[in-house]
Amino acid sequence: MIEGRLKVYEPKTDNVKKFLDLLSQRINRQIVSSMVGCVHCGMCADSCHYALARPDDPTMTPVWKADQIRRIFKRHLDWTGRIFPWWVHARYPADDEELNRLKNIVFGTCSACRRCTFNCPMGVDTAALISFTRGLLTEIGIVPEGIFNVCRDEWETGNQMAVTEADYLETLKWMKEELQAELEISEIEIPVDKPDCDFMYVINPREIKFDPRSIANAAKIFHFAGERWTLPSWGWDQTNFGLFSGDDNLGGYKAKNVYEAAKKLHAKRIVISECGHGYRATRWEGYNWANYDQKLPTESVIVMLLRYIKEGRIKVDPARNPEPVTFHDSCNIARSGGLIEEPRWALDYVCSDFREMHPNRLENFCCAGGGGLLSMAEYRPLRLEVGKIKVDQLKATGAKLVCTMCHNCVDGLADLIKHYKLNMKVVQVLDLAANALITEK
Ligand code: SF4
Ligand code: SF4
Repeated sequence: MIEGRLKVYEPKTDNVKKFLDLLSQRINRQIVSSMVGCVHCGMCADSCHYALARPDDPTMTPVWKADQIRRIFKRHLDWTGRIFPWWVHARYPADDEELNRLKNIVFGTCSACRRCTFNCPMGVDTAALISFTRGLLTEIGIVPEGIFNVCRDEWETGNQMAVTEADYLETLKWMKEELQAELEISEIEIPVDKPDCDFMYVINPREIKFDPRSIANAAKIFHFAGERWTLPSWGWDQTNFGLFSGDDNLGGYKAKNVYEAAKKLHAKRIVISECGHGYRATRWEGYNWANYDQKLPTESVIVMLLRYIKEGRIKVDPARNPEPVTFHDSCNIARSGGLIEEPRWALDYVCSDFREMHPNRLENFCCAGGGGLLSMAEYRPLRLEVGKIKVDQLKATGAKLVCTMCHNCVDGLADLIKHYKLNMKVVQVLDLAANALITEK
């Protein structure tokens, strides 16, 4: 039974009751300010790729999506909605079917890209409301199957693709042998669990399963920079579906795995491979989720690459990458991670024809696959449809390569390129850097 000021409200189902109880328990100042701060000016509509791709559909605007949780908050916790629900459009969810509809809104029609957040004059963080609502629904099991499966794999195996330790170690060994053969250098290593290193490198499981060359590229650059580095045998996955599901407990568990691995190996730093949400989760959000007093500096591999080039620790030749390249800012790297100029400076060094995409940096559009959408097959048709905004951006550059520093964006962009039949390829900064690296003595 939920106590109301004027009358007692009896939720119709257990799920509705649990949802409202969780809402009361988890509400915090940050969420309340976004719940009550909206003045319904509608300015955020122009910033959302969903709303831009479907201009005649009001349900695609950020404000409408946020209002679906806002009206429940108002009815349940805010005095205006408790006394005058009809006036402020406040209402409780009627049944499980309504919670299911809410699930389809917060998981299926928002990639949590935060472009609207940066364009709201009132500072309303719609993406935070979306993530908050995702967390409530995930807790009561009303969650898309794809997200549920990845979260389960993360809890059970410590990584989002359920890679076994044997497969992980075997892939690293394979890449080491390839590198040794390619460069004819027998000392080149991909070390695991080496203690007291300058840094511990953590990666995205997609690199093990689908793109092991990205590990080899990193190892090649580290070797020529003369680094003492290691990967851990546990805690090597820097990705974190706590961010996409809104489950802070999972977020804390995954982040702590990484932090503790570095502590155990006495690494001096943690370096994160090219992954948008992994960077945000490990570098920024994980400390709070895990309530962890992190002592070690944590940085992106691209920041380190830039340092190597600037300090002359590696030599690169931009002429080895002559094709026109543009750069896609991952939402979690730029808007939510604060890394904006570093990848551009790195690209200036390693390729000879760089073309900026417009809009860019904080105003860049999502690849349409962010927020865990790549793992939710049921929302793919809408994702591809609203990705048209990104496709128009890509086409206008005339580039042959689109570079991004996020494995999630690699898949999101590749899907769009295939669907819209663009003559483009997706690469990452380390791919271009490894190609430009001068390895001859
Ligand atoms: S721009 Fe901000 S205040 Fe205006 S409708 Fe959107 S969320 Fe509300
Ligand atoms: S966070 Fe991004 S996808 Fe979600 S409503 Fe805002 S602009 Fe649209």
